[in-house]
Amino acid sequence: MPSLVPLYKYRAMLLSQSFFIKDNQAELRLHAHKYDFDMAFFSELSEFVAAVEQDSGTSLFVIDLDALHNMQSDMQDSRKTLMLGELLQRLPAGREYVYLQSSRQGGRYLLQQKLVDSHCLAYAEKPIANDVLVDKLFNLFVQKKRGDLVRLIQLGDASALDRTCLDAARIELVTHDQAQTLHLRVRELQPDLVLVSDAEFAGTESLAQVLKKNIEADPVREIVLLQHQPDAGLMQRALASGFDAVLPAGDPALLCAQLVNRASKIRISKDLISKDRATGLLNKVGLQKKAQELIRQAAREERPLAFGVIDIDKFKTINDTWGHYFGDIVIKRLAVCLASHLGERDLLSRFGGEEFVIVFWDCTLEEGWRRLDALRQAFGRLPFEVRREDVRHFSFSGGMAAYPACQTENALFLRADAMLYEAKQGGRNRICTGPADPL
Ligand code: GH3
Ligand code: MG
Ligand code: MG
Repeated sequence: MPSLVPLYKYRAMLLSQSFFIKDNQAELRLHAHKYDFDMAFFSELSEFVAAVEQDSGTSLFVIDLDALHNMQSDMQDSRKTLMLGELLQRLPAGREYVYLQSSRQGGRYLLQQKLVDSHCLAYAEKPIANDVLVDKLFNLFVQKKRGDLVRLIQLGDASALDRTCLDAARIELVTHDQAQTLHLRVRELQPDLVLVSDAEFAGTESLAQVLKKNIEADPVREIVLLQHQPDAGLMQRALASGFDAVLPAGDPALLCAQLVNRASKIRISKDLISKDRATGLLNKVGLQKKAQELIRQAAREERPLAFGVIDIDKFKTINDTWGHYFGDIVIKRLAVCLASHLGERDLLSRFGGEEFVIVFWDCTLEEGWRRLDALRQAFGRLPFEVRREDVRHFSFSGGMAAYPACQTENALFLRADAMLYEAKQGGRNRICTGPADPL
């Protein structure tokens, strides 16, 4: 039965004729599903090429070079580089490919050179464990997608920064001119990168320490010294006092390229820390940070927020009856179902195993109840084919609280969780907000 919503967000297409991949298809898929992507396997080059051509540009294309080996033996030709040349020629242009090769192939530098010159996104050597391969592919997916905005605060002389170049890489630049108030600005704006000119550092050498020792400091944040004048002693003191790096200010293009590289590493670290791998949603850590930001915005703009906690009903029974793996699929489909009904500024988190948190921006308790109840009904309609011609439906319960009645993220969670308990006590498959529920 076709599902109403796509189960997996991304797809890796794999061209392979070797037993290495064939024997491992089921396990590779299983691992991939945990990271929310699917795998399609091809053994014919022509079918693979057709699929690559039709793809909208979101998939990863993986080629096991042993496929080449087999095709070659049919043609009674043992010159591998020639066959490789033919294969590369037949691959659609304007795409990038991941190549899997044996360690023998990996030892041949000319082959490597040919690969990296030919639309190579990455290459990997076999044998490679299924979970390791899937994890590497997942990282490539993360890097491919348009990254979140990275925020950079610059203290002091900003003449070396090229705004256009930073904009293009989705790095937002904020300038600040007071060393004494930098920590307050950092607390308010929560930047990912703090850039301090050497002159400012020379005037206030404790800058990095003040930023880093704050117990709330973001561990991913990087503090970088911008070096206008060479001074080895000053650089040493900067690094010893907590700066992460020193970058030369001389060439704006070079500086921008370095900042872009750092921003992309920061994006990956932030994703690993704040997102749930199986669903791609915010995890508990990520939600807490984003919800606190949203509450600050709501206070500034005087808007209400509705905060919901969701828990799948009788999930232990689902696991016990159809297996843990099926339970994971239910979790993923609920994630996709909830995500498809979100507004631009709403938040969604997989808070724990089968528990989710949803925050509706500019939304009262009553309106929040209506929206969450509509989601409850939508999830209840999703068909799950547990066995051939055996379709089941599942449900969740939810509790809601609202800002400004509850003022902090913690108070919102406690109130919504208490309301979730009411919903479970009241018979499940319902949303509770308090004594006057519009049920
Ligand atoms: P209730 O309606 O009262 O919520 O009943 P329940 O069975 O859903 O009870 P509860 O919420 O306490 O149980 C959650 C179960 O979910 C316990 C745990 O074994 C299982 N679980 C937690 N995380 C995962 C996960 O990631 N995958 C799967 N398949 N199961 C999980
Ligand atoms: Mg639970
Ligand atoms: Mg439950």
